[in-house]
Amino acid sequence: MANFDVIVIGAGITGLSAAKAAVQRGLRTANIEALMFGGLVVNINELDGEPAGSGTDFASNLMMEISELGVENLSETVSTIARDGNQLSVTTDAGTHRARAVIIASGAKLKRLGIPGEAEFEYKGVSQCADCDGPMYKGEEVVVVGGGDSALQEALVLAEYSKCVHLVHRNATFRAQQHLVDAIGRHDNIKPVLNSVAEAILGNAMVEKVRVRDVVANASREIPSAGFFAYIGLEPSCEFAPAELARDVAGFLITDDAFNTKMPGVFAAGAVRAGYGGMLTHAIAEGEAAANAAAAQLGV
Ligand code: NAP
Repeated sequence: MANFDVIVIGAGITGLSAAKAAVQRGLRTANIEALMFGGLVVNINELDGEPAGSGTDFASNLMMEISELGVENLSETVSTIARDGNQLSVTTDAGTHRARAVIIASGAKLKRLGIPGEAEFEYKGVSQCADCDGPMYKGEEVVVVGGGDSALQEALVLAEYSKCVHLVHRNATFRAQQHLVDAIGRHDNIKPVLNSVAEAILGNAMVEKVRVRDVVANASREIPSAGFFAYIGLEPSCEFAPAELARDVAGFLITDDAFNTKMPGVFAAGAVRAGYGGMLTHAIAEGEAAANAAAAQLGV
Protein backbone atom coordinates (compact mmCIF):
# COMPACT_ATOMS: atom_id res chain seq x y z
CA MET A 1 0.00 0.00 0.00
CA ALA A 2 1.00 3.65 -0.30
CA ASN A 3 3.42 5.72 1.78
CA PHE A 4 2.38 9.20 2.88
CA ASP A 5 3.83 12.00 4.95
CA VAL A 6 0.54 12.49 6.77
CA ILE A 7 -2.56 10.34 7.07
CA VAL A 8 -5.65 12.13 8.36
CA ILE A 9 -8.34 9.80 9.73
CA GLY A 10 -11.81 11.26 9.31
CA ALA A 11 -13.35 13.54 6.68
CA GLY A 12 -15.46 15.74 8.90
CA ILE A 13 -14.64 19.44 8.94
CA THR A 14 -11.64 18.93 11.25
CA GLY A 15 -10.20 16.17 9.07
CA LEU A 16 -10.80 18.06 5.82
CA SER A 17 -9.24 21.21 7.32
CA ALA A 18 -6.24 19.20 8.55
CA ALA A 19 -5.76 17.54 5.15
CA LYS A 20 -5.97 20.91 3.40
CA ALA A 21 -3.39 22.50 5.72
CA ALA A 22 -1.05 19.49 5.42
CA VAL A 23 -1.14 19.34 1.61
CA GLN A 24 -0.64 23.13 1.45
CA ARG A 25 2.57 22.62 3.45
CA GLY A 26 3.78 20.34 0.63
CA LEU A 27 3.15 17.09 2.53
CA ARG A 28 1.96 13.99 0.71
CA THR A 29 -1.40 13.58 2.41
CA ALA A 30 -4.13 10.96 2.54
CA ASN A 31 -7.54 11.31 4.08
CA ILE A 32 -9.31 8.13 5.19
CA GLU A 33 -13.06 8.07 5.83
CA ALA A 34 -15.28 5.03 6.38
CA LEU A 35 -18.62 6.77 5.84
CA MET A 36 -19.74 9.96 4.10
CA PHE A 37 -17.44 12.99 4.09
CA GLY A 38 -18.58 16.06 6.03
CA GLY A 39 -19.36 14.54 9.44
CA LEU A 40 -22.03 16.02 11.74
CA VAL A 41 -22.08 19.38 9.89
CA VAL A 42 -24.01 17.92 6.96
CA ASN A 43 -27.05 17.71 9.28
CA ILE A 44 -27.20 21.52 9.45
CA ASN A 45 -29.33 23.26 6.81
CA GLU A 46 -28.23 26.78 7.69
CA LEU A 47 -24.95 27.35 9.52
CA ASP A 48 -25.19 29.66 12.53
CA GLY A 49 -22.87 32.64 11.70
CA GLU A 50 -19.64 32.36 9.72
CA PRO A 51 -19.11 30.43 7.49
CA ALA A 52 -22.68 30.86 6.22
CA GLY A 53 -24.76 28.54 4.02
CA SER A 54 -25.61 24.87 4.41
CA GLY A 55 -23.38 22.36 6.17
CA THR A 56 -23.42 20.11 3.11
CA ASP A 57 -22.26 22.91 0.78
CA PHE A 58 -19.48 23.88 3.16
CA ALA A 59 -18.22 20.28 3.46
CA SER A 60 -18.53 19.64 -0.31
CA ASN A 61 -16.51 22.74 -1.17
CA LEU A 62 -13.77 21.73 1.27
CA MET A 63 -13.78 18.19 -0.12
CA MET A 64 -13.41 19.50 -3.70
CA GLU A 65 -10.64 21.86 -2.62
CA ILE A 66 -8.53 19.13 -1.00
CA SER A 67 -9.03 16.82 -3.97
CA GLU A 68 -7.80 19.55 -6.33
CA LEU A 69 -4.83 20.20 -4.04
CA GLY A 70 -3.81 16.54 -4.38
CA VAL A 71 -5.01 14.87 -1.18
CA GLU A 72 -5.65 11.18 -1.74
CA ASN A 73 -9.15 10.41 -0.45
CA LEU A 74 -9.54 6.80 0.63
CA SER A 75 -12.93 5.27 1.42
CA GLU A 76 -11.79 2.69 3.98
CA THR A 77 -12.39 1.69 7.61
CA VAL A 78 -9.38 2.03 9.91
CA SER A 79 -8.84 -0.84 12.35
CA THR A 80 -5.46 -0.05 13.98
CA ILE A 81 -2.58 2.40 14.18
CA ALA A 82 0.85 1.01 15.10
CA ARG A 83 4.47 2.10 15.18
CA ASP A 84 6.49 0.58 12.32
CA GLY A 85 10.19 1.46 12.69
CA ASN A 86 10.44 5.22 12.25
CA GLN A 87 7.03 5.33 10.58
CA LEU A 88 3.44 4.65 11.57
CA SER A 89 1.22 2.06 9.97
CA VAL A 90 -2.50 2.55 9.56
CA THR A 91 -4.35 -0.68 8.84
CA THR A 92 -7.74 -0.55 7.16
CA ASP A 93 -10.17 -3.03 5.60
CA ALA A 94 -8.23 -2.49 2.34
CA GLY A 95 -4.66 -3.02 3.65
CA THR A 96 -1.90 -1.15 5.49
CA HIS A 97 -0.74 2.38 4.68
CA ARG A 98 2.38 4.02 6.08
CA ALA A 99 2.92 7.61 7.15
CA ARG A 100 5.34 9.76 9.10
CA ALA A 101 2.49 11.37 11.05
CA VAL A 102 -1.14 10.49 11.69
CA ILE A 103 -3.88 12.94 12.64
CA ILE A 104 -6.94 11.37 14.25
CA ALA A 105 -9.93 13.55 13.34
CA SER A 106 -12.59 10.86 13.44
CA GLY A 107 -15.06 13.00 15.37
CA ALA A 108 -17.90 11.94 17.58
CA LYS A 109 -21.36 10.53 17.19
CA LEU A 110 -24.63 11.32 18.92
CA LYS A 111 -25.26 9.04 21.88
CA ARG A 112 -28.37 6.88 22.06
CA LEU A 113 -30.57 6.51 25.13
CA GLY A 114 -30.85 2.74 24.73
CA ILE A 115 -34.52 2.66 25.76
CA PRO A 116 -37.11 0.20 24.38
CA GLY A 117 -38.37 1.27 20.95
CA GLU A 118 -35.35 3.42 20.07
CA ALA A 119 -33.76 0.87 17.73
CA GLU A 120 -37.09 -0.65 16.63
CA PHE A 121 -38.51 2.68 15.40
CA GLU A 122 -35.33 4.01 13.77
CA TYR A 123 -36.44 5.76 10.53
CA LYS A 124 -40.07 5.17 11.68
CA GLY A 125 -40.24 8.27 13.86
CA VAL A 126 -36.90 7.99 15.72
CA SER A 127 -34.41 10.45 14.26
CA GLN A 128 -31.38 12.50 15.29
CA CYS A 129 -31.60 15.03 12.46
CA ALA A 130 -34.20 17.74 13.07
CA ASP A 131 -33.07 19.70 10.01
CA CYS A 132 -33.51 16.72 7.66
CA ASP A 133 -36.65 15.21 9.14
CA GLY A 134 -38.40 18.23 10.71
CA PRO A 135 -40.70 18.88 7.71
CA MET A 136 -42.13 15.34 8.10
CA TYR A 137 -43.64 16.41 11.45
CA LYS A 138 -45.68 19.35 10.19
CA GLY A 139 -48.69 19.72 12.51
CA GLU A 140 -47.61 16.75 14.67
CA GLU A 141 -46.36 16.48 18.26
CA VAL A 142 -42.75 15.40 18.82
CA VAL A 143 -40.50 14.62 21.80
CA VAL A 144 -36.94 15.96 22.12
CA VAL A 145 -34.74 14.66 24.95
CA GLY A 146 -31.81 16.60 26.48
CA GLY A 147 -31.00 19.90 28.11
CA GLY A 148 -27.81 20.98 26.32
CA ASP A 149 -27.20 23.26 23.32
CA SER A 150 -28.00 20.51 20.81
CA ALA A 151 -31.38 19.58 22.31
CA LEU A 152 -32.55 23.19 22.57
CA GLN A 153 -31.22 24.13 19.14
CA GLU A 154 -32.94 21.15 17.52
CA ALA A 155 -36.16 21.76 19.51
CA LEU A 156 -36.22 25.25 17.97
CA VAL A 157 -35.85 23.76 14.49
CA LEU A 158 -38.68 21.30 15.11
CA ALA A 159 -40.90 24.07 16.52
CA GLU A 160 -40.94 25.60 13.01
CA TYR A 161 -42.94 22.60 11.81
CA SER A 162 -44.51 20.78 14.75
CA LYS A 163 -47.72 21.56 16.60
CA CYS A 164 -45.96 20.87 19.92
CA VAL A 165 -42.39 19.99 20.90
CA HIS A 166 -42.21 18.26 24.31
CA LEU A 167 -38.69 18.99 25.56
CA VAL A 168 -37.94 16.24 28.08
CA HIS A 169 -35.01 16.93 30.39
CA ARG A 170 -33.86 14.91 33.39
CA ASN A 171 -32.92 18.00 35.40
CA ALA A 172 -34.77 21.06 36.77
CA THR A 173 -32.74 23.50 34.65
CA PHE A 174 -31.22 23.44 31.19
CA ARG A 175 -27.46 23.54 30.82
CA ALA A 176 -27.71 25.11 27.32
CA GLN A 177 -26.51 28.64 26.54
CA GLN A 178 -28.85 31.33 27.92
CA HIS A 179 -29.82 32.69 24.49
CA LEU A 180 -31.16 29.23 23.57
CA VAL A 181 -33.04 28.92 26.88
CA ASP A 182 -34.55 32.37 26.25
CA ALA A 183 -35.55 31.41 22.70
CA ILE A 184 -37.28 28.26 23.99
CA GLY A 185 -39.26 30.45 26.42
CA ARG A 186 -40.51 32.59 23.51
CA HIS A 187 -42.07 29.58 21.74
CA ASP A 188 -45.59 28.68 22.92
CA ASN A 189 -45.36 25.35 21.09
CA ILE A 190 -42.26 24.15 23.02
CA LYS A 191 -43.26 22.59 26.34
CA PRO A 192 -40.41 21.84 28.77
CA VAL A 193 -41.00 18.56 30.62
CA LEU A 194 -38.46 18.91 33.43
CA ASN A 195 -37.18 16.41 36.00
CA SER A 196 -38.30 13.72 33.58
CA VAL A 197 -36.81 10.83 31.64
CA ALA A 198 -38.03 9.04 28.52
CA GLU A 199 -38.64 5.40 29.40
CA ALA A 200 -39.99 3.85 26.19
CA ILE A 201 -41.03 4.72 22.65
CA LEU A 202 -44.34 3.13 21.73
CA GLY A 203 -46.29 2.57 18.53
CA ASN A 204 -47.22 0.09 15.84
CA ALA A 205 -45.79 0.66 12.35
CA MET A 206 -44.59 4.14 13.40
CA VAL A 207 -43.93 6.02 16.65
CA GLU A 208 -47.22 7.03 18.31
CA LYS A 209 -46.30 7.98 21.88
CA VAL A 210 -43.46 8.20 24.38
CA ARG A 211 -43.67 7.04 27.99
CA VAL A 212 -42.07 9.63 30.25
CA ARG A 213 -41.42 9.38 33.99
CA ASP A 214 -41.37 12.36 36.32
CA VAL A 215 -38.45 11.45 38.59
CA VAL A 216 -39.59 13.75 41.44
CA ALA A 217 -43.21 12.49 41.55
CA ASN A 218 -42.05 9.01 40.42
CA ALA A 219 -45.05 8.88 38.06
CA SER A 220 -45.15 7.85 34.40
CA ARG A 221 -47.42 9.14 31.63
CA GLU A 222 -47.66 8.76 27.87
CA ILE A 223 -47.11 11.75 25.59
CA PRO A 224 -48.64 11.48 22.09
CA SER A 225 -45.78 11.88 19.66
CA ALA A 226 -45.04 11.09 16.03
CA GLY A 227 -41.32 11.82 16.34
CA PHE A 228 -38.57 11.17 18.88
CA PHE A 229 -35.25 13.03 18.89
CA ALA A 230 -32.59 12.39 21.59
CA TYR A 231 -29.72 14.88 21.91
CA ILE A 232 -27.94 13.69 25.04
CA GLY A 233 -24.36 14.43 24.08
CA LEU A 234 -21.65 12.86 22.03
CA GLU A 235 -19.34 9.86 22.24
CA PRO A 236 -15.96 9.71 20.43
CA SER A 237 -15.48 7.62 17.30
CA CYS A 238 -12.02 6.21 18.01
CA GLU A 239 -12.44 2.47 18.59
CA PHE A 240 -9.37 1.90 16.38
CA ALA A 241 -7.05 4.14 18.44
CA PRO A 242 -4.36 2.20 20.34
CA ALA A 243 -4.93 1.59 24.05
CA GLU A 244 -1.74 3.56 24.89
CA LEU A 245 -3.50 6.79 23.84
CA ALA A 246 -4.80 8.50 26.98
CA ARG A 247 -8.56 9.06 27.19
CA ASP A 248 -10.81 10.99 29.56
CA VAL A 249 -13.64 9.31 31.48
CA ALA A 250 -16.01 9.70 28.52
CA GLY A 251 -13.44 8.12 26.15
CA PHE A 252 -12.32 11.32 24.34
CA LEU A 253 -8.60 11.38 23.40
CA ILE A 254 -6.34 13.51 25.57
CA THR A 255 -3.70 15.64 23.84
CA ASP A 256 -1.27 18.35 24.86
CA ASP A 257 -1.67 21.92 23.61
CA ALA A 258 0.06 20.99 20.32
CA PHE A 259 -2.46 18.16 19.68
CA ASN A 260 0.10 15.40 20.43
CA THR A 261 -1.33 12.19 21.84
CA LYS A 262 0.74 9.85 24.01
CA MET A 263 1.95 8.03 20.87
CA PRO A 264 4.80 9.93 19.12
CA GLY A 265 3.73 11.14 15.67
CA VAL A 266 0.03 10.63 16.37
CA PHE A 267 -2.09 13.78 16.77
CA ALA A 268 -5.77 14.18 17.60
CA ALA A 269 -8.03 17.14 16.81
CA GLY A 270 -11.69 18.13 16.78
CA ALA A 271 -14.66 16.38 18.35
CA VAL A 272 -12.69 13.19 19.10
CA ARG A 273 -10.45 15.18 21.46
CA ALA A 274 -11.12 15.97 25.12
CA GLY A 275 -11.48 19.74 25.53
CA TYR A 276 -12.79 20.40 22.01
CA GLY A 277 -14.85 23.61 21.92
CA GLY A 278 -17.76 22.27 19.87
CA MET A 279 -18.14 25.13 17.36
CA LEU A 280 -17.51 24.86 13.62
CA THR A 281 -14.78 27.48 13.95
CA HIS A 282 -13.06 25.24 16.52
CA ALA A 283 -13.27 22.25 14.15
CA ILE A 284 -11.53 24.23 11.40
CA ALA A 285 -8.92 25.78 13.70
CA GLU A 286 -8.04 22.47 15.42
CA GLY A 287 -7.64 20.67 12.08
CA GLU A 288 -5.32 23.36 10.76
CA ALA A 289 -3.35 23.60 14.01
CA ALA A 290 -2.85 19.82 14.23
CA ALA A 291 -1.60 19.73 10.63
CA ASN A 292 0.79 22.60 11.31
CA ALA A 293 2.05 20.83 14.46
CA ALA A 294 2.60 17.63 12.45
CA ALA A 295 4.40 19.58 9.70
CA ALA A 296 6.65 21.25 12.27
CA GLN A 297 7.51 17.85 13.76
CA LEU A 298 8.36 16.57 10.27
CA GLY A 299 10.65 19.57 9.79
CA VAL A 300 8.54 21.23 7.08
P1 NAP B 1 -24.19 18.15 26.26
O1 NAP B 1 -23.83 19.56 26.43
O2 NAP B 1 -23.29 17.09 26.82
O3 NAP B 1 -25.65 17.96 26.89
C1 NAP B 1 -26.22 16.70 26.97
C2 NAP B 1 -27.58 16.85 27.62
O4 NAP B 1 -28.22 15.57 27.63
C3 NAP B 1 -27.51 17.34 29.06
O5 NAP B 1 -28.56 18.23 29.32
C4 NAP B 1 -27.68 16.04 29.87
O6 NAP B 1 -28.38 16.23 31.09
C5 NAP B 1 -28.53 15.19 28.96
N1 NAP B 1 -28.24 13.76 29.10
C6 NAP B 1 -27.05 13.14 29.03
N2 NAP B 1 -27.19 11.82 29.18
C7 NAP B 1 -28.51 11.60 29.35
C8 NAP B 1 -29.28 10.44 29.57
N3 NAP B 1 -28.72 9.22 29.60
N4 NAP B 1 -30.61 10.57 29.72
C9 NAP B 1 -31.20 11.80 29.67
N5 NAP B 1 -30.51 12.95 29.45
C10 NAP B 1 -29.18 12.84 29.31
O7 NAP B 1 -24.36 17.72 24.72
P2 NAP B 1 -24.79 18.59 23.45
O8 NAP B 1 -25.95 19.43 23.74
O9 NAP B 1 -24.87 17.62 22.32
O10 NAP B 1 -23.54 19.54 23.20
C11 NAP B 1 -22.24 18.96 22.96
C12 NAP B 1 -21.22 20.10 22.73
O11 NAP B 1 -21.51 20.77 21.49
C13 NAP B 1 -21.30 21.15 23.83
O12 NAP B 1 -20.00 21.63 24.04
C14 NAP B 1 -22.15 22.23 23.23
O13 NAP B 1 -21.91 23.50 23.77
C15 NAP B 1 -21.74 22.16 21.74
N6 NAP B 1 -22.82 22.66 20.89
C16 NAP B 1 -22.85 24.01 20.62
C17 NAP B 1 -23.87 24.53 19.84
C18 NAP B 1 -23.91 26.00 19.54
O14 NAP B 1 -23.05 26.72 20.02
N7 NAP B 1 -24.86 26.51 18.80
C19 NAP B 1 -24.87 23.69 19.33
C20 NAP B 1 -24.84 22.35 19.65
C21 NAP B 1 -23.82 21.84 20.44
P3 NAP B 1 -27.73 17.03 32.34
O15 NAP B 1 -27.76 18.47 31.96
O16 NAP B 1 -28.68 16.67 33.44
O17 NAP B 1 -26.36 16.45 32.53
